Amino acid sequence: MSIFSKIAAGEIPSEKVYSDEKVYAFKDINPQAPTHILVIPKAHIPSVDGITAENSAVVAHIFEVIPTIAAAENLTNGYRVVSNCGQDAGQTVHHLHFHILGG
Ligand code: 5GP
Repeated sequence: MSIFSKIAAGEIPSEKVYSDEKVYAFKDINPQAPTHILVIPKAHIPSVDGITAENSAVVAHIFEVIPTIAAAENLTNGYRVVSNCGQDAGQTVHHLHFHILGG
């Protein structure tokens, strides 16, 4: 089980900002911006490279909830959405996640 699967399951504590049946969002432990949130699918996908026709619905759902999360965090002036994929991008946790960076 990936560290982020354990976070989504509540086995590792995190600062939750959003949760539903498919998606979990929480504050990054080492923020790179005043607001730094990670959004993950509860089901394990290793990275952007692991997105397929079979599992991409959750990715669409993630992008549906990102504006809700951004609004709840008062990111009214805008924000970045980033996903690092693979070694050259510096991906350190091999469970698909989207960084929301703002403030
Ligand atoms: P990556 O470099 O893979 O794109 O991003 C992984 C992110 O996960 C990093 O920004 C790192 O700070 C964050 N992170 C790693 N472990 C934990 C953890 O246990 N809890 C939380 N909240 N964030 C984590």
